[in-house]
Amino acid sequence: MSAATSPEEAPTGRAGASTLWVGRGIAAVAAVLLLLYPVINDNRYYQNIIILSLVFAVAASGLSIITGLAGYVSLGQGAFIGLGGYTVGILATHHPDTSVWLWVPLAGVVAALVALVLGFVALRARGPSFVIITVAFLFLVQVIAINWRSLTGGTEGLTLPLPTWSADIMNWPFYYALTAILALQLLLAWWVRRIKLGTGLVAIREDETKAATVGINLPVEKMIAFVASSVFVGMAGGVYGYYLTFIDPRGMLNILLSVQTMLALLVGGKATLWGPVLGAFLVEPLNEYANNNLGGGNTRLVLFGGLLILIVLFLPQGVLPAIESLLSWLRTRGSAGLVGARIGTGGSLASLTERLHPVEREPGAAVPPMLEVKDLRKSFGGLKAVDGASLVVPEGSITGLIGPNGSGKTTLFNLVDDTIHADGGEIWLAGERIDGLSPWTRAHRGLGRTFQITRLFREMTVLENVVAAQHSFSWSQLGRIAVSGAEAKAAEELLEYVGMRAFRDQKARALSYGQQKLVELAQVLMLDPKLILLDEPAGGINPVLVERMSEMIRELNSYGKTFLIVEHNMPFVLGLCDPVHVLGRGRTMASGTPDQIQNDPAVVDAYLGDDFVLEATEQVERAEQERAGST
Ligand code: ADP
Ligand code: MG
Repeated sequence: MSAATSPEEAPTGRAGASTLWVGRGIAAVAAVLLLLYPVINDNRYYQNIIILSLVFAVAASGLSIITGLAGYVSLGQGAFIGLGGYTVGILATHHPDTSVWLWVPLAGVVAALVALVLGFVALRARGPSFVIITVAFLFLVQVIAINWRSLTGGTEGLTLPLPTWSADIMNWPFYYALTAILALQLLLAWWVRRIKLGTGLVAIREDETKAATVGINLPVEKMIAFVASSVFVGMAGGVYGYYLTFIDPRGMLNILLSVQTMLALLVGGKATLWGPVLGAFLVEPLNEYANNNLGGGNTRLVLFGGLLILIVLFLPQGVLPAIESLLSWLRTRGSAGLVGARIGTGGSLASLTERLHPVEREPGAAVPPMLEVKDLRKSFGGLKAVDGASLVVPEGSITGLIGPNGSGKTTLFNLVDDTIHADGGEIWLAGERIDGLSPWTRAHRGLGRTFQITRLFREMTVLENVVAAQHSFSWSQLGRIAVSGAEAKAAEELLEYVGMRAFRDQKARALSYGQQKLVELAQVLMLDPKLILLDEPAGGINPVLVERMSEMIRELNSYGKTFLIVEHNMPFVLGLCDPVHVLGRGRTMASGTPDQIQNDPAVVDAYLGDDFVLEATEQVERAEQERAGST
C-alpha cells in the first residue's frame, strides 16, 4: 500500500491489501452491471428503483464527508436534494425554450451557496445542537417552498417541461446523468479522504478540541467539508426533479429523504468510500418494497426506525466494515498477530532536518519572555480554578509548574492554548499578545502542548497522528496528499527521534500509555513550536521512559525550545526545571530556583509537607546513584 492511504482504510498488512483489491473488483463489476442495465432490461419499475438508489447514493456519499469524516451528523441532507430539484424546476418553468439539463450544474451551485450560509450558523454548534439546526433548516426550506407561491407554486407544486427525447430511450438520460454525478461525487469523496483536509476532518471527528491545538483551522475545514458534501447532492436533486417532472414541498422536502440518506450511510458504513453506495442500493429497494407490499406511509417510518436501531446495536460500523473485519479475521486467524514492535532507543536531534529548527538568538539582544501570563482567571460555577495567576517563562528556559492536585495547573494550560476560554487576564507569547487568538493561530505562532491524559486521534495511525499537526495554514496545503513529501519525512524523523517509528502504521488506540505520550510529543514537535507545554510528561510511565523523557527535554532545550512543565515527580522537576513556579488555589504562591522553592516555608507547608525536603533530596541522590551505577 502506498503511504497515501486514508485514515479509514489503512490496512494492517497484506490481508488488508488483498481485501481492498477484492472490494475494488466487486465495485468494478457492480459499476459495469449498473452501466449496462438499461440496455439489457427495459423494465421501468426496476429502472425507477435504480434511479432513486442513485440519488440516495449521491446524497449518502456526500454525507459521508461531513458526517462520516468530520463527525457532524446532518439530517438536512434531504434539503439539498429538494433545493436542487426546485432550482431546476423553477428555472425550467421560467425558461421553457432552454434545455433543462443546463440548470443541473446551477442546482449544485445553489446547494453549495446555501450550505455556505447554513454552515456559518450550524457549524458553530456541535453534537445534538448541530443535528437540530439541520432539521430546523430542512423545515425552514419547506416553509419557504410552501409560502413563496409565486416562485415555487406553493403546495400545488411545479410541473416541469416533459423530456424532449424519443420515447425509445426512455429513462436512459436520467439514469446516466445520475451515474455520472455519482462518479464525480465518489471521486470527490475519495480525494478528500486522501488530502490534508481529510486528515483534518478525521481529527475533528476524533477530538475537535485537540485538533485545534495542533493547528487545524476548524471553521475553514468544517465549512469546506459541508459545502463539499452538498454540491453534487444539489445536482442529483436537480436531475431527480426533472425525472419526476412534478415537484412539491411534501415530496421534495420530506424529512424521510434525509432519514433514508442517513440510513443508507449507516447501513453501508459511514466512514467508507463505497459503503454509502451499497447502503443506498440496499435501503431504497427495501423502501420500495415497504411502499408496495406493507402499505407504505407509517410502515416506512417503523421500518426505517427499526432498521436504524438494529444497525446501531449490531452493526455500528455498517455492513462494509463488518465484512472487511470478518475477512481479515478469517485470514489472520491462527497467525501470530502483531509482531511485537519495541520502543526504539531514540534518534539524535541532528537527524531532525525537515521540521525542527534550532532557535537563533542574537547574543546580548534583549528578548521578551517566551510566555508571560498576567492575572489569568477562570471560574467553573463558583469554583475559581485559576484565580489571578501570573507567571513568566523566560526564553530558552525549562520552567516548572508545581502545586497540589486541583490547584489549577491543567486549567492554566487550557487557558494558555485556549482549550478553555479565559474569563480574564493577559497571555503574551514571545512579546505578542495572544489571548484574543484562536487555538490554531496560537499553534501557528509557536505554541505546542501535550495533555495530562494523552489525546491522540485514536482511529488514526501513529504516522497520521503526527502528520495531522499543521504548523501553518494555507489553502493549498489543504489540498495536498496527507501523508507524503516533506511532511511525511518530517513526521518519520520525529517518530524516530522519540523512538516510536516501529509503530508508525499502528492505530493510536492500540498503544500503551507511555507510547502515547511519546507520539503526542512527536505530534507537538511537528508544529516546530517555540514553547512547549508538557502536562505531567512523567506521569504514569515507567522509569526508563521517564529518564528518556527528561533527556529529550534537555536536548530539545539545548536546541532552543522553551518548556513549561507541570509534573508531580519531584526529582524530575527539581533536576530539570529552573525556575519553578508553585500554584496554590489558582494563584502563583511562589517562584524561584529549585533550591529556593524547596526551602520556602510557605511552599513546604502548603504543598510539599515537612518530610518532603529530605525525601526529595534522597530521591534525587538515589536516582543519581542509579544513573552512575548503570553506566
Ligand atoms: P490540576 O491540574 O492542578 O490538578 P485542574 O486545573 O485540573 O488542577 O483543576 C483545578 C480545579 O478546577 C479542580 O477543582 C477541578 O475539579 C476544576 N475543574 C477543572 N476543569 C474543570 C471543568 N472543565 N469544569 C469544572 N471544573 C473543572
Ligand atoms: Mg492536572
